[in-house]
Amino acid sequence: MTALKSWRSDKLGHLGSSIFAEVAQWKAEAADAGLDVIDLGIGSPDQPPTESVRRALAEAALKPDRYAYPSSQGSIAFRKKAADWIRWRFGEAAAIDPETEIVTLMGSQDGLSHLAMAVCNPGDTAVVPNPGYPIYSAALALAEVEAELLPLRAENGFLPDLDAVPEQVWRKAKFVLLGYPANPVTAVANETFFKRMITLAKQYGFLFVHDLAYSEMGFGGERPMSVLQFEGAKEVAVEFHSLSKSFNMAGCRIGFLVGNAEAVGALRELKANIDYGVFGAVQEAGIVALEEGMSGAMEPVGKLYERRRNLFIEALAAEGWKVEKPKATMFVWAPLPDMQWSPPDGGQWDSRRIAREMLLRAGVAVIPGDAFGSEGEGYVRIALVEDDERLLEAARRIGRFIRGE
Ligand SMILES: *Cc1c(COP(=O)(O)O)cnc(C)c1O
Repeated sequence: MTALKSWRSDKLGHLGSSIFAEVAQWKAEAADAGLDVIDLGIGSPDQPPTESVRRALAEAALKPDRYAYPSSQGSIAFRKKAADWIRWRFGEAAAIDPETEIVTLMGSQDGLSHLAMAVCNPGDTAVVPNPGYPIYSAALALAEVEAELLPLRAENGFLPDLDAVPEQVWRKAKFVLLGYPANPVTAVANETFFKRMITLAKQYGFLFVHDLAYSEMGFGGERPMSVLQFEGAKEVAVEFHSLSKSFNMAGCRIGFLVGNAEAVGALRELKANIDYGVFGAVQEAGIVALEEGMSGAMEPVGKLYERRRNLFIEALAAEGWKVEKPKATMFVWAPLPDMQWSPPDGGQWDSRRIAREMLLRAGVAVIPGDAFGSEGEGYVRIALVEDDERLLEAARRIGRFIRGE
């Protein structure tokens, strides 16, 4: 018998960071050791969608005629409602054509993972942030697209230093992908940034891809902006939206891409060969969620996370770890604390060691910043996805951990 071939592609080795698997391993170790783990690692909302959304989903699911294949681009009813919501939320300038300028997605992850394959050829170049949401660069590896990494640093408010980018990079780039409010760095972008990106995109002919998963999670009156609000955006830009965070529908898998018709069309065409779309009942529930959002009947999710943010940041400060309050998202991007003891392995404290020891000793799971790229070293990402009491308990445990008690 000949030797069996390898059934694991080389590309798999370029997918994301192995750190998430490591954190899962530490979590299992901590649980085995009998620790009650407070999981502030994963970025999955802990709240359910509203009752009317759940009811719409249940009622649609009970109808016997809802089980045919949906269409891969999404029902026209959902696309129209999404277009209404975009206009309601971002203004008349952001109006889109529901026929040609939107494609429904199985969560924005679906689109983020396939867009490079739809708009690029192997060997093309695309620009993604460092640190960044892991699928951004993983998707480039899948599509055999070269990644140029744009560092996001505290001294620039975690916005890219656009003037520092060599012109050569803009020339080569097929697309530039950035998302604000940003995961993991929590920063919010301003008008200048969007206008500049549109100008650069026109000047160098690249597509500007904006990931807007946290549009409804701005705090203290911060209203995250859409690129579509700005003049000329649809000539050069597309934007990902997700119902996962805005409407607590992460498990339903529904989102959409809006903007430039050619790029939207390319993703639609690719997806028509990959999947047959989002379950109709989920789209019907999504319509109810968007309607509720527009009616003002539902409290925006941002309120909950803003309260948790205040409570948690203040509790951390009381424990001696002073971290700036994020302006948006459900995360805290925290520079490493001033540790009052030395790591057990005799090395220096870094993101990985802090996250590991925090989990194994204090039972609090966070993600080491370097999981999101080399520029994430020196930080940990803390997700505010537990209730007030658990967050306060986490802060107390973290305090004892920092002091080595
Ligand atoms: C959560 C998240 C998404 C959304 O993912 P879905 O697939 O829509 O659930 C997209 N981008 C970022 C930055 C996120 O944090």
